[in-house]
Amino acid sequence: MLKTRNRSLVLRERPTGEVGDEHFEMVEGPVPTPRAGEVVIRNEWLSFDPAQRGWMNDVRSYAPPVAIGEVMRAYGVGMIVASEHADLPVGTRVQGQLGWQEYAHIPPGGIGELTIVPPEIAHPETMLGVLGLTGLTAYFGMLMVGIPGVGDTVLVTAAAGATGSIAGQIARINGASRVVGTAGTAEKRAWVCEVAGFDECLDHYDDDVRRQLRRAAPGGYDVVFDNVGGSLLDAALFNIAERGRIALCGSISTGYRPERPAIGLHYYQLLTTRRSRMEGFLVTDFADQFDRARGDLSRWVDEGKIQASQDVLTGLERAPTGLARLFSGGNLGKQLLRLS
Ligand code: NAP
Repeated sequence: MLKTRNRSLVLRERPTGEVGDEHFEMVEGPVPTPRAGEVVIRNEWLSFDPAQRGWMNDVRSYAPPVAIGEVMRAYGVGMIVASEHADLPVGTRVQGQLGWQEYAHIPPGGIGELTIVPPEIAHPETMLGVLGLTGLTAYFGMLMVGIPGVGDTVLVTAAAGATGSIAGQIARINGASRVVGTAGTAEKRAWVCEVAGFDECLDHYDDDVRRQLRRAAPGGYDVVFDNVGGSLLDAALFNIAERGRIALCGSISTGYRPERPAIGLHYYQLLTTRRSRMEGFLVTDFADQFDRARGDLSRWVDEGKIQASQDVLTGLERAPTGLARLFSGGNLGKQLLRLS
């Protein structure tokens, strides 16, 4: 049943450190009514993505910052419950930037950003994880930037995370013979090896992670898919193989906090002597290929070649906790929130 009141979490103040409840305010208002060309969506699932922490900073990036008093930006999945748009009738399930709120009001300019969730997808929240931007990031970062070949040795950092866990499995599908990960807890490392099928998973908190990486792959890494940056990236650089490729997916160790000093990379000169390269990418660069990639990911999931974990919180008021968990390592796999 359509409620009459909508609850939203708006940005109250910009954090300088970790994200907490105190940075947001719950506000209530009427559920909007769509005008011509608009839809209203009842949000069902919210996605947590490290980039959200960056959107809270008052700095220029690939996306504008969330303004003070604005609903916190977030990807989500929901059902259209009121529509004045001919192509999006009531009952259509969509994925898009729905925000930390119970109902999202999408103006005509935002309609093109919505993706219809195919009705045959049994678990619509996977459109935020393995079949969403997370899985697509792993897919394009690994296959178009890392480019693992048959027999290659691959390293994935934050391997128990949403993106890293999928990236490692894609490397295996593409012929990599040895896939090594890093993760922060014993439980996660066991999952990475036993469920996601990595050959080995190392503790990134180990003081000697540089040598641990060497022990795990004495010949070096042909591909590094890096989600973490900082000193772990430096340790990976130390272990890059000849003609190696480092795909820079993200740098969560910086916390996406602008006040943190940049960490110098000691071993970048090995890119020269080992004729290797390091390249960043944004998943949105590949938007014209999303449908094809989603088809591959969906098939691999159906064939049991990709295992994806979801970590689910419940209730809009827990959204700040969901975002904080990405930075404390609280999540195993894709961090989601189900709206009650
Ligand atoms: P995630 O990996 O599911 O969650 C983040 C994980 O990072 C945590 O579970 C934690 O695991 C690890 N972590 C946090 N702080 C750390 C630190 N200081 N040092 C080492 N590990 C740390 O998150 P995700 O959504 O899949 O994102 C993964 C990366 O992909 C992020 O860097 C994100 O920015 C990037 N990304 C890039 C694109 C793109 O287009 N380039 C798109 C989406 C995401 P542990 O317990 O193992 O520490």
